[in-house]
Amino acid sequence: MTEQTRVTAARGRRLRCRGWRQEGLLRMLENVLEVGERPEDLVVYAARAKAARDWESFAALVEALRALRDDETLVVQSGKPIGIFPSPADAPLVLMACGNIVGRYATQENFDDLAARGLTMFGGLTAGDWQYIGFQGVLQGVYEVLQAVAREHFAGSLAGRLVLTSGLGGMGSAQPLAITMAGASGLVVEVDEKKCARALDRGHVDLATDDLGEALAAVEVGSAGPSRVVALVGNAAAVYAELAQSGLVPDVVTDLTAAHDALFGYCPLGLSLSEWGRLRDEDPEEAARRARESMAVEVEAMLRLRAAGAIVFEDGNNLRVQAGAAGFSGAFEIDGFAERYLRPLFCRGIGPFRWVALSGEESDLHELDRLAGALAVRPEVQQWLDLARRNVPLQGLPARSCWLGHGERSAFALEVNGLVSSGRLAAPVLFTRDHFDSGGMTHPHIGTEGMADGSSAISDWPILDALLLSASGADLVAVHGGGAGYAGYMQSAGVTIVADGTEAAARRLGRALDADTGLGVLRYADAGYEVARAAAATAGLGLQTASRPLA
Ligand code: NAD
Repeated sequence: MTEQTRVTAARGRRLRCRGWRQEGLLRMLENVLEVGERPEDLVVYAARAKAARDWESFAALVEALRALRDDETLVVQSGKPIGIFPSPADAPLVLMACGNIVGRYATQENFDDLAARGLTMFGGLTAGDWQYIGFQGVLQGVYEVLQAVAREHFAGSLAGRLVLTSGLGGMGSAQPLAITMAGASGLVVEVDEKKCARALDRGHVDLATDDLGEALAAVEVGSAGPSRVVALVGNAAAVYAELAQSGLVPDVVTDLTAAHDALFGYCPLGLSLSEWGRLRDEDPEEAARRARESMAVEVEAMLRLRAAGAIVFEDGNNLRVQAGAAGFSGAFEIDGFAERYLRPLFCRGIGPFRWVALSGEESDLHELDRLAGALAVRPEVQQWLDLARRNVPLQGLPARSCWLGHGERSAFALEVNGLVSSGRLAAPVLFTRDHFDSGGMTHPHIGTEGMADGSSAISDWPILDALLLSASGADLVAVHGGGAGYAGYMQSAGVTIVADGTEAAARRLGRALDADTGLGVLRYADAGYEVARAAAATAGLGLQTASRPLA
């Protein structure tokens, strides 16, 4: 890595920009690279989700953010800053569109070609709009799914159960901790031995080995002993197939390799990492074809394990689509995690909300966690905060991911804005969320699979969400398209708002956070979900709000 690429987020109270709103966004641009997987290539996570188009764009973004006034809006096209326009002081500071290609042309081939020519980039969900906070971002998602699995299939507890999964990359590296937090044992297959060693160094797994027998002995299959998690160096397709053959049936089976990206995200069977790299360079089509074929082998093994009694689901990485593309017709017999386990939460606007202490001070994060716990009405929130405080190490700027719902997010953020104003915190706080949220995403094979009214592929919702967030004055609003590996499959919206302690920030936070979750609840209500209809009625969401008396 060169000098230029060694990016870390600024800490402390010194401003390099004209205000905290701009400074907060700049610190997040730096932070996603500080905690990212391959910062030297600007890659944050998900195989090739980037923070900026190229290093020239990165430098231009930094310069633009430093100079940006409150009454201006910076426009960013797929990771490259394009222009600065005058705007009202309460309008967004940054507007982004990333990886969008019109429907008929949104193919993987077109995306790869346009990206290679430097015209677009894949921003993932939270990379291109600087909202990624490290593996914690997906940690609670994985944990919530495991909890739902426990409730539905294992009388509320995964103690003594074995979870088989794979992938220890940017997001995947959250899995060992989530498995431990859920009280289960885990076998996590990862083809890159360095990622296994990293998980061991971090203390997230008890053992890293390339010996399946040793791994299985270590997780003490069948016993109700303490939870143990093992990183197994190997190829998921090979290991899953071997387990399916052996007759040993894990209780829960899933996968979090970067399967969505057949070229860069999934190592084909029988290849070492260096052989895979060479094949990608020499014959990318063959590399992708072999990866898809291997995914089909893995999915077939997952179905055999399911037939033998395992609970099997896809964890939001498009594995089933890739296996289907390889001609394996049964892939969609496997459940998608969102439809099966998370939808009731999304119906109430509950999803992956996040806060970041811009000061860099851990004491600010403690104070924020304490306040979130004190305000929580649902016991799960306090329970999660306790678990997170005990188990989640700091990664980059101190941050917390915490699933909050409609009304809960704005109530908390307004209190925090008050704390900033009174000087109780060392610096302002930034709020954001994953795009994988109730209003923020359309992906017919992930977040919006199997919508009750058939609206799974309708991407009006994230676009409306982004427009509404802009109208509400959020500080950064982004519309992301599928891009690498998700081309043609996804549309999503991202949002960031800084609580700088001002009254203007309070207005922005209240309006934008409620609009975001409110639209999410209405979307599910519109699709016919009773839970969402009840939540909308309780919160007074819908057309009736238009007839409210003028304030
Ligand atoms: P990443 O590219 O950082 O890591 C992928 C890992 O998979 C790498 O460590 C790689 O070595 C490993 N791998 C590749 N092929 C393998 C094989 N055949 N066997 C075993 N290991 C293999 O990606 P990431 O950031 O960890 O993301 C993983 C997936 O999760 C992506 O598809 C991403 O889009 C998806 N995702 C899911 C959620 C969610 O809520 N569930 C959220 C965000 C992202």
